[in-house]
Amino acid sequence: MSSISLHNISKVFPDGTRAVQEISLEINKGEFLVLVGPSGCGKSTLLRLIAGLDELTSGSIKIGGKDAASLLPKDRDLALVFQNYALFPNLSVYDNLAFGLKARKVPKVIIKEKIIPVSQRLGLAELLQRKPDELSGGQRQRVALGRLLVRNPSIHLLDEPLSNLDANLRTSMRHELAQLHNEYQKTTLFVTHDQVEAMTLGQRLCVMNQGHIIQVGTPTEIYDFPEHRFVAEFFGSPPINLFKGKIESFQNNSSFTNGSIKIPLPNDSDLSEGEIELGIRPEDWIINSEASSQSVPVILQRIENLGDSRILHFMDQENTIRAKSELREFQVGKPYFLTPQWNRVHWFDIQTEKRVLR
Ligand code: ATP
Repeated sequence: MSSISLHNISKVFPDGTRAVQEISLEINKGEFLVLVGPSGCGKSTLLRLIAGLDELTSGSIKIGGKDAASLLPKDRDLALVFQNYALFPNLSVYDNLAFGLKARKVPKVIIKEKIIPVSQRLGLAELLQRKPDELSGGQRQRVALGRLLVRNPSIHLLDEPLSNLDANLRTSMRHELAQLHNEYQKTTLFVTHDQVEAMTLGQRLCVMNQGHIIQVGTPTEIYDFPEHRFVAEFFGSPPINLFKGKIESFQNNSSFTNGSIKIPLPNDSDLSEGEIELGIRPEDWIINSEASSQSVPVILQRIENLGDSRILHFMDQENTIRAKSELREFQVGKPYFLTPQWNRVHWFDIQTEKRVLR
């Protein structure tokens, strides 16, 4: 059963900004879905519409099968964690955790019964009497999550909750969030603009741009089969190589050409002649020091050493080409030959920027 159902929803702000445009999406019960996209693409607005903090311009939302229009925000059985955690600075950790239940007039003994296990689970048991400004960023983040777990709604909405943490803490909190989801199995909508966070946390990702959904899929589908040039470019570090060019055919042999690059296509290629964009991820080149019939001659310009792998910046006559390799033997200034792994390349229509199926 779907936990949240969005049907054709749009949000236009009074100044005319179209923050969310005709979005339809089903979020399954217990699913961890990540809303991901660049700053300003409408992720937070979508979350606020679901939470009932903003009003829809058009479309409808169902929560647990009920039309959300008939539900006040407090009756939607959900809770939102914000980027800045929104803790009450003058209340202790305990009172922050208790706040939502107190507001619902839950008896004190029951509140305590709920807070104790959650605070132990999150490592906050020793900190219950502290005020938020006496906590580290990670601890504050845990209090915000704890508040959500104490209230225990069916739906968790998390708006960039890790963005104020340093890199190490982000990684460990990511792990923690995944474990919490495993234990509590709540429907979770997690907003981020960070591709790594999205890929590592989401069971499914919903990729947004300019108020639209561009693709919904598992991390593997999104990375290996991007349906749009935008998705191909958004995921992957270093980013995918994109070459605008054309397919030319001569005596039953096709090749892709782009200025200096001319690569014969494999025999089973059925791409038709005309303009097209070729995408090759940095890890999808075969790098040789000798030429082959399908290779591009290049010179190695720069090596970025990541420790476990190397990012290699090559140059042909016109293009900078990024590659990635775990080998250590490369030398700047030397010629190399790059061959695409044809079963891993991506083709995009020049006009629509959508994936061209082969
Ligand atoms: P970020 O990752 O930076 O938080 P986002 O993807 O969450 O961005 P939103 O905050 O949903 O994006 O904003 C979507 C668009 O709506 C942006 O262009 C933003 O400027 C605009 N916007 C948001 N709130 C309002 C408002 N109250 N009035 C007018 N425009 C708004």
